Amino acid sequence: MPPLPPNSALLVIDMQEDFCEPHGTLAVKNGRQIAPLINSLLSLPFKTTIASRDHHPSNHCSFASQHPGEKPFTSSHTIRNPASTSPDSESQTTTLWPDHCVQGTKGCELIPELDATKIQHIVNKGEDIRVESYSAFGPPFRKPEVSMSGLKALLTDAKVERVYVCGLALDYCVKATALDAIRAGWQTYVVRDATEAVDQSEEAVGAVMKDFEGGGVKVIGSKELLG
Ligand SMILES: [Zn+2]
Repeated sequence: MPPLPPNSALLVIDMQEDFCEPHGTLAVKNGRQIAPLINSLLSLPFKTTIASRDHHPSNHCSFASQHPGEKPFTSSHTIRNPASTSPDSESQTTTLWPDHCVQGTKGCELIPELDATKIQHIVNKGEDIRVESYSAFGPPFRKPEVSMSGLKALLTDAKVERVYVCGLALDYCVKATALDAIRAGWQTYVVRDATEAVDQSEEAVGAVMKDFEGGGVKVIGSKELLG
Protein backbone atom coordinates (compact mmCIF):
# COMPACT_ATOMS: atom_id res chain seq x y z
CA MET A 1 0.00 0.00 0.00
CA PRO A 2 1.45 3.43 -0.87
CA PRO A 3 2.08 5.50 2.24
CA LEU A 4 -0.44 8.19 3.03
CA PRO A 5 1.32 11.52 3.52
CA PRO A 6 1.37 12.49 7.19
CA ASN A 7 -1.07 15.16 8.36
CA SER A 8 -3.70 14.21 5.82
CA ALA A 9 -7.45 14.53 6.41
CA LEU A 10 -10.34 12.75 4.73
CA LEU A 11 -13.48 14.85 4.19
CA VAL A 12 -16.60 12.76 3.54
CA ILE A 13 -19.22 15.06 2.10
CA ASP A 14 -22.98 14.71 2.66
CA MET A 15 -23.43 10.91 2.56
CA GLN A 16 -27.05 11.32 3.67
CA GLU A 17 -30.30 9.51 2.99
CA ASP A 18 -31.85 12.38 1.04
CA PHE A 19 -28.93 12.33 -1.40
CA CYS A 20 -29.23 8.56 -1.98
CA GLU A 21 -31.68 6.23 -3.68
CA PRO A 22 -34.22 4.81 -3.13
CA HIS A 23 -35.95 7.30 -0.81
CA GLY A 24 -33.88 10.47 -1.09
CA THR A 25 -35.73 13.60 -2.16
CA LEU A 26 -32.59 14.75 -3.98
CA ALA A 27 -31.04 11.38 -4.76
CA VAL A 28 -27.80 11.12 -6.70
CA LYS A 29 -27.80 8.08 -8.98
CA ASN A 30 -25.54 5.39 -7.46
CA GLY A 31 -24.67 7.66 -4.54
CA ARG A 32 -25.12 4.88 -2.00
CA GLN A 33 -22.82 2.58 -3.95
CA ILE A 34 -19.69 4.60 -3.16
CA ALA A 35 -20.01 3.96 0.60
CA PRO A 36 -17.87 0.75 0.66
CA LEU A 37 -15.05 2.53 -1.14
CA ILE A 38 -15.27 5.45 1.29
CA ASN A 39 -15.11 2.95 4.17
CA SER A 40 -11.88 1.57 2.68
CA LEU A 41 -10.47 5.09 2.55
CA LEU A 42 -11.58 5.67 6.16
CA SER A 43 -9.42 2.68 7.19
CA LEU A 44 -6.27 4.47 6.06
CA PRO A 45 -4.18 6.24 8.74
CA PHE A 46 -5.61 9.73 8.30
CA LYS A 47 -4.72 12.32 10.91
CA THR A 48 -8.41 13.13 11.06
CA THR A 49 -11.61 12.04 9.34
CA ILE A 50 -14.54 14.44 9.08
CA ALA A 51 -18.02 13.93 7.65
CA SER A 52 -20.24 16.84 6.67
CA ARG A 53 -24.02 16.93 6.77
CA ASP A 54 -26.44 19.22 5.00
CA HIS A 55 -28.54 20.17 8.04
CA HIS A 56 -31.39 22.47 7.10
CA PRO A 57 -34.23 24.01 9.08
CA SER A 58 -37.57 23.17 7.40
CA ASN A 59 -37.88 26.73 6.05
CA HIS A 60 -34.44 26.97 4.46
CA CYS A 61 -34.10 29.48 1.59
CA SER A 62 -32.77 26.81 -0.82
CA PHE A 63 -36.12 25.00 -0.79
CA ALA A 64 -38.41 25.82 -3.73
CA SER A 65 -41.30 25.29 -1.30
CA GLN A 66 -40.31 28.56 0.43
CA HIS A 67 -40.70 30.58 -2.77
CA PRO A 68 -44.31 30.63 -4.04
CA GLY A 69 -44.50 29.88 -7.76
CA GLU A 70 -40.92 28.64 -8.04
CA LYS A 71 -39.98 25.11 -9.08
CA PRO A 72 -37.20 22.85 -7.83
CA PHE A 73 -34.23 22.21 -10.14
CA THR A 74 -35.17 24.91 -12.68
CA SER A 75 -35.68 28.05 -10.58
CA SER A 76 -32.83 29.95 -9.02
CA HIS A 77 -32.55 32.36 -6.15
CA THR A 78 -30.13 35.22 -5.52
CA ILE A 79 -29.00 35.79 -1.95
CA ARG A 80 -27.11 38.86 -0.69
CA ASN A 81 -24.66 38.59 2.17
CA PRO A 82 -27.05 39.13 5.10
CA ALA A 83 -24.26 40.34 7.38
CA SER A 84 -23.05 43.07 5.02
CA THR A 85 -24.16 46.68 5.22
CA SER A 86 -22.46 47.57 1.94
CA PRO A 87 -24.73 48.58 -0.97
CA ASP A 88 -22.62 46.39 -3.27
CA SER A 89 -22.55 43.39 -0.94
CA GLU A 90 -21.56 39.94 -2.16
CA SER A 91 -24.30 37.78 -3.63
CA GLN A 92 -24.77 34.12 -4.49
CA THR A 93 -27.19 32.73 -7.05
CA THR A 94 -28.23 29.16 -6.35
CA THR A 95 -30.60 26.56 -7.67
CA LEU A 96 -33.80 25.92 -5.73
CA TRP A 97 -34.21 22.32 -4.57
CA PRO A 98 -36.90 20.01 -3.25
CA ASP A 99 -37.00 20.00 0.57
CA HIS A 100 -34.05 17.87 1.71
CA CYS A 101 -31.90 17.05 4.74
CA VAL A 102 -34.29 18.69 7.20
CA GLN A 103 -32.93 18.53 10.75
CA GLY A 104 -34.32 15.58 12.70
CA THR A 105 -35.72 13.73 9.69
CA LYS A 106 -34.64 10.37 8.30
CA GLY A 107 -33.47 12.11 5.14
CA CYS A 108 -30.89 14.06 7.11
CA GLU A 109 -29.20 10.97 8.57
CA LEU A 110 -25.89 9.66 7.35
CA ILE A 111 -26.54 6.44 5.42
CA PRO A 112 -25.97 3.28 7.50
CA GLU A 113 -23.64 1.84 4.85
CA LEU A 114 -21.08 4.45 5.89
CA ASP A 115 -18.93 3.20 8.78
CA ALA A 116 -19.59 5.97 11.28
CA THR A 117 -17.20 4.40 13.81
CA LYS A 118 -14.33 5.58 11.61
CA ILE A 119 -15.51 9.20 11.49
CA GLN A 120 -13.94 11.43 14.12
CA HIS A 121 -15.96 14.60 13.60
CA ILE A 122 -19.23 15.64 12.00
CA VAL A 123 -19.74 19.20 10.78
CA ASN A 124 -23.16 20.60 9.92
CA LYS A 125 -23.86 23.16 7.21
CA GLY A 126 -26.90 24.90 5.80
CA GLU A 127 -28.33 25.70 9.23
CA ASP A 128 -28.77 29.42 8.57
CA ILE A 129 -32.09 29.82 6.72
CA ARG A 130 -30.85 32.98 4.96
CA VAL A 131 -27.91 31.49 3.03
CA GLU A 132 -26.99 28.42 0.97
CA SER A 133 -23.86 26.43 1.74
CA TYR A 134 -22.65 23.85 -0.73
CA SER A 135 -19.16 23.95 0.80
CA ALA A 136 -18.57 22.08 4.06
CA PHE A 137 -16.61 25.14 5.18
CA GLY A 138 -19.70 27.36 4.98
CA PRO A 139 -21.51 29.85 2.74
CA PRO A 140 -19.46 31.62 0.05
CA PHE A 141 -19.51 35.00 1.78
CA ARG A 142 -16.23 36.51 2.98
CA LYS A 143 -17.02 40.21 3.59
CA PRO A 144 -17.84 39.33 6.31
CA GLU A 145 -18.00 35.56 6.74
CA VAL A 146 -21.45 34.25 7.70
CA SER A 147 -22.39 31.05 9.55
CA MET A 148 -19.13 29.16 8.90
CA SER A 149 -19.22 25.48 9.91
CA GLY A 150 -16.13 25.08 12.06
CA LEU A 151 -14.41 22.79 9.55
CA LYS A 152 -11.53 25.20 9.07
CA ALA A 153 -10.80 25.22 12.79
CA LEU A 154 -10.91 21.42 12.97
CA LEU A 155 -8.36 21.10 10.17
CA THR A 156 -6.16 23.84 11.59
CA ASP A 157 -6.22 22.37 15.10
CA ALA A 158 -5.25 18.94 13.72
CA LYS A 159 -2.33 20.57 11.86
CA VAL A 160 -3.58 19.12 8.60
CA GLU A 161 -1.51 19.85 5.49
CA ARG A 162 -3.41 17.90 2.87
CA VAL A 163 -7.11 17.11 2.44
CA TYR A 164 -8.73 14.37 0.41
CA VAL A 165 -12.38 14.98 -0.50
CA CYS A 166 -14.99 12.34 -1.37
CA GLY A 167 -18.79 11.91 -1.13
CA LEU A 168 -21.80 13.72 -2.65
CA ALA A 169 -22.24 15.39 -4.91
CA LEU A 170 -19.21 15.91 -7.13
CA ASP A 171 -20.66 18.88 -9.00
CA TYR A 172 -22.01 20.77 -5.98
CA CYS A 173 -20.83 20.18 -2.44
CA VAL A 174 -17.66 18.17 -3.20
CA LYS A 175 -16.63 20.80 -5.74
CA ALA A 176 -17.35 23.77 -3.48
CA THR A 177 -15.58 22.13 -0.52
CA ALA A 178 -12.48 21.25 -2.55
CA LEU A 179 -12.21 24.75 -4.03
CA ASP A 180 -12.63 26.32 -0.57
CA ALA A 181 -9.96 23.98 0.85
CA ILE A 182 -7.41 24.99 -1.71
CA ARG A 183 -8.25 28.69 -1.29
CA ALA A 184 -7.63 28.25 2.42
CA GLY A 185 -4.17 26.89 1.67
CA TRP A 186 -4.46 23.11 1.95
CA GLN A 187 -3.12 20.74 -0.68
CA THR A 188 -6.39 19.36 -2.02
CA TYR A 189 -7.20 16.07 -3.72
CA VAL A 190 -10.58 14.79 -4.89
CA VAL A 191 -10.92 11.00 -4.98
CA ARG A 192 -12.96 10.74 -8.16
CA ASP A 193 -14.34 7.20 -7.87
CA ALA A 194 -15.42 7.90 -4.27
CA THR A 195 -17.77 10.65 -5.52
CA GLU A 196 -20.86 10.79 -7.73
CA ALA A 197 -22.33 13.76 -9.57
CA VAL A 198 -25.90 15.01 -9.82
CA ASP A 199 -25.32 15.56 -13.56
CA GLN A 200 -23.30 12.55 -14.64
CA SER A 201 -23.03 13.55 -18.31
CA GLU A 202 -19.52 13.60 -19.72
CA GLU A 203 -19.89 17.28 -20.50
CA ALA A 204 -20.94 18.27 -16.98
CA VAL A 205 -18.28 16.16 -15.26
CA GLY A 206 -15.70 17.55 -17.69
CA ALA A 207 -16.66 21.08 -16.66
CA VAL A 208 -16.11 20.18 -12.99
CA MET A 209 -12.69 18.73 -13.83
CA LYS A 210 -11.82 22.00 -15.57
CA ASP A 211 -12.83 23.94 -12.46
CA PHE A 212 -10.56 21.70 -10.37
CA GLU A 213 -7.67 22.12 -12.79
CA GLY A 214 -8.13 25.89 -12.82
CA GLY A 215 -8.26 26.01 -9.03
CA GLY A 216 -5.27 23.70 -8.47
CA VAL A 217 -7.28 20.79 -7.05
CA LYS A 218 -5.75 17.43 -7.98
CA VAL A 219 -8.05 14.57 -8.99
CA ILE A 220 -6.98 11.01 -8.24
CA GLY A 221 -8.47 7.51 -8.21
CA SER A 222 -8.84 5.57 -4.96
CA LYS A 223 -6.23 3.09 -6.21
CA GLU A 224 -3.58 5.75 -5.71
CA LEU A 225 -4.34 5.59 -1.98
CA LEU A 226 -5.48 2.00 -1.52
CA GLY A 227 -2.96 0.35 -3.86
ZN1 LIG B 1 -29.03 21.62 0.95
